Amino acid sequence: CGIIGAFSSRGAHLLEEIYLGLYALQHRGQEAAGVAWSDEAGQVLCRRGNGLVHLALSQTELAQVTCQAAIGHVRYATTGGTGLANAQPLAASSSVHGSFAVAHNGNLTNTDELKRQMEHGGAIFQSRTDTEVVLHLISHQPDVPFADAVQRSCTKLRGAFSLVIVHENRLIAVRDPWGFRPLALGERDGVFYVASESCAFDLLGAHFIRDLDPGEILLIDSTGLHSSKLPLTPARHYHCAFEYVYFARPDSVIDGVSVYESRIRMGRELAKTNGCPTDAVVTGLPDSGTIAALGYAAESGHAYQAAIVRNRYSGRTFIEPTPRVRELGVQKKLNPIRSLIEGRQLVAIDDSVVRGTTSRKVCDLLRRCGARGIHLRISSPPVCYPCFYGIDTPSRDDLVAAQKSVPAMASQFGCDSLQYLTKEALIRSIGKPACELCTACFDGHYMEEDER
Ligand code: 5GP
Ligand code: SF4
Ligand code: MG
Repeated sequence: CGIIGAFSSRGAHLLEEIYLGLYALQHRGQEAAGVAWSDEAGQVLCRRGNGLVHLALSQTELAQVTCQAAIGHVRYATTGGTGLANAQPLAASSSVHGSFAVAHNGNLTNTDELKRQMEHGGAIFQSRTDTEVVLHLISHQPDVPFADAVQRSCTKLRGAFSLVIVHENRLIAVRDPWGFRPLALGERDGVFYVASESCAFDLLGAHFIRDLDPGEILLIDSTGLHSSKLPLTPARHYHCAFEYVYFARPDSVIDGVSVYESRIRMGRELAKTNGCPTDAVVTGLPDSGTIAALGYAAESGHAYQAAIVRNRYSGRTFIEPTPRVRELGVQKKLNPIRSLIEGRQLVAIDDSVVRGTTSRKVCDLLRRCGARGIHLRISSPPVCYPCFYGIDTPSRDDLVAAQKSVPAMASQFGCDSLQYLTKEALIRSIGKPACELCTACFDGHYMEEDER
């Protein structure tokens, strides 16, 4: 998912800004979009809809609203279904805390336990999202001020949560103590923004101030910015390595690392470890493999060709619900240019293999275009384990790399050679110490093991 929040002490047309910011974060979720803001009386209002931002929300309606604090969300379903009941922000009101709304990026790992406890206390949950747990936790603490209730609630959460909360005329942003999902602070003309990725600030004309620290709670109101820390101090940080591999936009800088530069380095690392035929042409599977392919070509000296064209109106195929649509999805989205491929050796680069659908389809398409050899290179290690922190990887049964060896996958995909980036090379490419990164989907080492 993608989240954004805005605060202006003077009041401004913040929803127009939130709308634009969500548009810049569209790649982080295409299933639903929503906004929430507080009116002059401090009442929180919400608009949510299914699908892409421009379909889910009315820009003209939102542009008319002025407010001091607002938040927004684009949804990529990891828990709960895709129905509108699971769209965010989620709003609640209680007689003590008044009304508030929460938008969440990430996935909690102790939802069931927390839900059970609260259901015993009489709570009734309306959606199947883990985010509703956060609302309940907050309203279950009536005897402390709202900001304290947020802080106390967050200490009970495990897993990944970057949150933006609007309450009365203020904005609260929280990043989990492990730092799984990104969250950054920006500013323009006295308006403060928090967003999942810095690319949203670029569109808003805001300048990037800094990333939120893992475990930071940032409260922004008319008296200024107030930062505090959750009392939890984890042994180490777990910034999601997959944000750099695939999820984030290349024009974002996350926790001090340019996503684009890291992808170039992933491609370079791939080129270092193996020799492909000298006359081969390097191409990327757009868009997710393009930058690594550029890095590969720069390192190996092979010619780079944009030999596979992507239909720019197709979304992210991975999200398609059924195998049938996923299969078609690849063809709907990618088309090779025959004249660049016929009779050639190709180095085809993609960012990751999950179920293997894309790889198999692309090898088939390239073969049908007359490729003489196909050397598939993947700019991440084999995805062998599910993610419980907000990326929708399927169970191990559906992860092709969990089921098959690399040679077996090569023959299933129909390529002449297949090679993955090693975990060590991935970590070098990101440029952070291994003890600051989550690589659980590659190595099965989950945060919970260290926390025990
Ligand atoms: P596969 O076809 O092997 O199931 O999925 C791999 C393809 O999906 C790659 O091209 C990669 O760019 C993309 N992909 C990998 N992980 C994700 C994800 O979590 N979400 C989406 N939308 N796409 C993904
Ligand atoms: Fe990211 Fe993989 Fe860790 Fe999930 S398991 S947070 S996708 S690195
Ligand atoms: Mg892709």
